[in-house]
Amino acid sequence: MSVRVRIAPSPTGYFHFGLARTALYNYLFAKKEGGAIILRVEDTDKKRNSPEFLQDIYDSFNWLGLSFDEKYVQSEHLERHKELLRKLVAEDKAYISKEVAKDDSVREVEVVRLRNPGRSITFNDVIRGDITFDTTELKDFVIARSIDDPLYHFAVVVDDGDAQITHIIRGEDHISNTPRQILIQEALGYPRPVYAHLPLILAPDRTKMSKRKHQTALKDFRAKGYLPEAMINFIALLGWSEGAGDRELYTLPELIEAFSLEGIHKAGAVFNEEKLRWYNRQYLVLKGEEFTMDVLNIMKTELEGRGILWDDGKARLLVPIIRERISIYDDVRALVQDGEFDYFFSEPSVDAAKIPDRKSTSGMAKEHLTFVAQALEKIPDDAYDAATLKDALWDYAEEKGRGAVLWPLRYALSGRDKSPDPFTIAAIIGKDETLKRIRAASEQ
Ligand code: GLU
Repeated sequence: MSVRVRIAPSPTGYFHFGLARTALYNYLFAKKEGGAIILRVEDTDKKRNSPEFLQDIYDSFNWLGLSFDEKYVQSEHLERHKELLRKLVAEDKAYISKEVAKDDSVREVEVVRLRNPGRSITFNDVIRGDITFDTTELKDFVIARSIDDPLYHFAVVVDDGDAQITHIIRGEDHISNTPRQILIQEALGYPRPVYAHLPLILAPDRTKMSKRKHQTALKDFRAKGYLPEAMINFIALLGWSEGAGDRELYTLPELIEAFSLEGIHKAGAVFNEEKLRWYNRQYLVLKGEEFTMDVLNIMKTELEGRGILWDDGKARLLVPIIRERISIYDDVRALVQDGEFDYFFSEPSVDAAKIPDRKSTSGMAKEHLTFVAQALEKIPDDAYDAATLKDALWDYAEEKGRGAVLWPLRYALSGRDKSPDPFTIAAIIGKDETLKRIRAASEQ
């Protein structure tokens, strides 16, 4: 029988990491086995559903690049659920029980209860081995609020059975639901699928990840500029590995090739954003022109937002510098907001006290700047690049002390305590601007 799996999110909150991982493992397993994966949106909890969360599910799967062989929302199957409820009642495997509603009213309701044979149920979990539950304490549990209103467990079992799901791969928070679902499955005569319950994703302090305390929504990571391929790679390794190896980088096709349920770990997986940043950098540096365009767009928006005149040519020259310094696109935003690149586009304000002309040990900063200006003036415009600049100044800097010569130069050009080396800055801002800034600083 060919493999059929499903991912069954409920649109009751934003798409989170746990869902991404469960979906990915189902996807990898289905693709590896040449099977099918089904997206079933469990929209039965009318009070907590929202169209926004539903859209977020679709958007997130699109962004991750995970597609499905079949898709539906659970409420479309309501008629089928009702039909099977009636069948169970007709067969006396379930019965209608008149009870007082549990909502403080004195209303009488007709719930449907399963006749629980009350035995012990053992199921095999691929990740955890045999798990046994005594189901007697579940008594004759409720499977529908009324004959027209099936409960969650009932709907899950019918949908899994009708879709001929062969493997149920889901979070370990569903382990305790499994015996109840097996009882319903047996009453309906469906075969038992293989179960694999995934360990929890833990926060760095090894506590359970919670929506309140930790950032878990995928959309927030998308907004920070993480790349989907980095996210997929990171999530795949969050609780799974290929044998004993320590390989970390996989594309989606490589993951499909390498994946097996046996490689899933038993222990909880720790979510570490630093690691995610590392993954993102690995993929970011592979991007060529696309990276340049993305960075330019972000810079332009941010710089113009700060009222700085945009210069596309200069900005392009900054891209390699930025590439060295960032892991995610949000880092570009942060650098620009911190004013890290302002001085490439507009003259910096330079604090004379920071050019230690009188205070420095050499006391020679002004003289060094004058020498530098003269040396640079001699470089023809068409040869004015970082390497030539360095050649022109290096011997002098070695002789007089690199710090004594280059620090004042760098500061005069940038007005900042930290910046790229002065040759790089000078080459990007151009000869005229370099000389202007050196003069301005030495005249203070
Ligand atoms: N709808 C359930 C959830 O969002 C998943 C049910 C299942 O996988 O069996 O947790």
